[in-house]
Amino acid sequence: MGTKSRTLCRGVCPKCGRRGTIIIKVIHGKEYVYFRHGRQWCYVGPARRIPIEKLIELAASEVRRA
Ligand SMILES: [Zn+2]
Repeated sequence: MGTKSRTLCRGVCPKCGRRGTIIIKVIHGKEYVYFRHGRQWCYVGPARRIPIEKLIELAASEVRRA
């Protein structure tokens, strides 16, 4: 099929601001970042241009504040 995906961890979606699961999809050898909120998905962008660590850190700091 040529499409793989892997689940990273939870974080905060930069598109809609909700918590979700970070998914990396590999399509034709390129990595793309998606967020999954239950049945809804948000496309964030190409993995190279997305600071994924920042998304995870953001989630961690939100937990600390709550
Ligand atoms: Zn989202």
